[in-house]
Amino acid sequence: MARVFSGMRPTGRLHIGHLLGALEKWVELQREHECFFSIVDWHALTTGYKDTSEMKKNISEMAIDWLSVGIDFEKSTVFLQSQVKEHAELHLLLSMIIPMAWLERNPTLKSMLQDMHITTVNYGLMGYPVLQTADILMYKGEKVPVGEDQVPHLEMSREIVRSFNRMYKPVFPEPEAILTQTPRLLGIDGKKMSKSLDNCIYISDDQDIIKKKVQMLVTDPQKIRKNDPGRPEICSVFEYHKIFNLGETDQIAADCRAGRLGCVADKNHLAEIIDRRLKPYREKRKEYAEKTGLIQDMLNEGSRRAQKIAAKTMSDVRDAMGLF
Ligand code: SF4
Repeated sequence: MARVFSGMRPTGRLHIGHLLGALEKWVELQREHECFFSIVDWHALTTGYKDTSEMKKNISEMAIDWLSVGIDFEKSTVFLQSQVKEHAELHLLLSMIIPMAWLERNPTLKSMLQDMHITTVNYGLMGYPVLQTADILMYKGEKVPVGEDQVPHLEMSREIVRSFNRMYKPVFPEPEAILTQTPRLLGIDGKKMSKSLDNCIYISDDQDIIKKKVQMLVTDPQKIRKNDPGRPEICSVFEYHKIFNLGETDQIAADCRAGRLGCVADKNHLAEIIDRRLKPYREKRKEYAEKTGLIQDMLNEGSRRAQKIAAKTMSDVRDAMGLF
């Protein structure tokens, strides 16, 4: 059994990309490991600091989605980053030992600036890999589930650990990546699925909305009538079949190519399959959505448990650094 840490920025309701890329893996991990899952609201501020009006609602929506898909708030320690103030202290202390050059070469910063149209890099944003490292180290995390694109971040965390342990005392384990397979899931407009592009299918979407959204998926533009031969390899609906309906893909590809299957019928079939997969989550979600007080209590309890461990880690850190 290893200690696992992972976090997510509170962006509100989660989409199926979050479900397939992270949450289903988390549910699996919590069966075998001691897991810490954090709603990292301070990370959300690194880019979304101007308008915080939706923050509390987004935290609550995210917690409800986590519960609905099976994150167990008793078995795992599920908490709100800002309720464990030790994260700020460790972030500050680590920032003293990190050369700026490490942060400047952060490979994801550039793409983040482009994707989010950010023109000014603030101090907090520049240092977010340090905050991320503090989050992991606070629980002496040994394993961190990450997608391939996040491996460089974890490598920086490992460098920070080596640097700290060498400079002071060996306090932290070097966290290792658990590589997660993030399926290539496009939004309903054919672009990368993203909340800001308003092209997501959400875990909480109901049957009618799923149907409407699936009908909007981009297909082969040359296939206009049912009998026209299609090219599944350039069709978003087929990409979804490969993820949600693997058993039928050969048949669907053959029928599409031969002009035996029409896009409307195929989309209706896909919508049913996605709906069937999401229905149990949606039903659980309804139950939890009515219990906002309970969600708050569960997060408070998780944060209290996390804080106990954080206090012990900070005592080790202060001791190693010769601080009171
Ligand atoms: S039949 Fe299905 S796979 Fe073929 S182009 Fe239409 S939606 Fe895509």
